[in-house]
Amino acid sequence: MNVVRIAEEIKKLHDEVPAGVRLVAVSKFHPVPALREAYDAGQRLFGESRVQELLEKIPQLPSDIQWHFIGHLQTNKVRSLIGRTALIESVDSERLLELIDRESERAGVITRVLMQVHVAREETKFGFYPEELQQYFTDRKFESLKATHICGVMGMASNTDDMERVRRDFRNIYSIFRAIRDNESLGLRGFDIVSMGMSGDWKIAVEEGSDLIRIGTRIFGSREY
Ligand SMILES: *Cc1c(COP(=O)(O)O)cnc(C)c1O
Repeated sequence: MNVVRIAEEIKKLHDEVPAGVRLVAVSKFHPVPALREAYDAGQRLFGESRVQELLEKIPQLPSDIQWHFIGHLQTNKVRSLIGRTALIESVDSERLLELIDRESERAGVITRVLMQVHVAREETKFGFYPEELQQYFTDRKFESLKATHICGVMGMASNTDDMERVRRDFRNIYSIFRAIRDNESLGLRGFDIVSMGMSGDWKIAVEEGSDLIRIGTRIFGSREY
């Protein structure tokens, strides 16, 4: 880890990213001193993808950090995550959402979440298919949630060098978001976050309407899994 680089990248990104777009520093697989470096450079929003790793990092870092969970969340890990996040960005099934809601109610907290939408070409990515997500809202299933606030959507573009394809994916995610947000009959409140864009494609994502970008490699270097 090169700590000078981390601080520099954070500062550069804070300059480059347009006003109104928030930056999540994706720190998964990176050690606490690397996160500390980003923190000292002014970063307060961090993203982690594994519950165990997140729970280990939280007590070792300042308490004004806002943690976003961005990975696939296994149902048996939900209880330990509830109350620890500013936002769970990766709700990828109704079953998971219902469980988050039940555990949040039990813990006496409101959990903020994004619905992960699957538009990318890869077979393996998690998330709701666009039609499924639309259906969830048109069926008004969100009305049964007691302790969960759906704040918007998160999505990833196809993992490809074809930047036109990437742009189409982001456009697609944004139009799904907009259709739900602008459907006044749903009466949604605070449904206003579109999380899209990573190290290699965040500029395109912002052009296509993202207001929350998730950057790992560019800040912290490559991950050793
Ligand atoms: C790892 C990860 C990122 C960060 O990707 P980089 O290419 O390293 O910037 C962003 N979003 C999600 C959901 C991730 O899992």
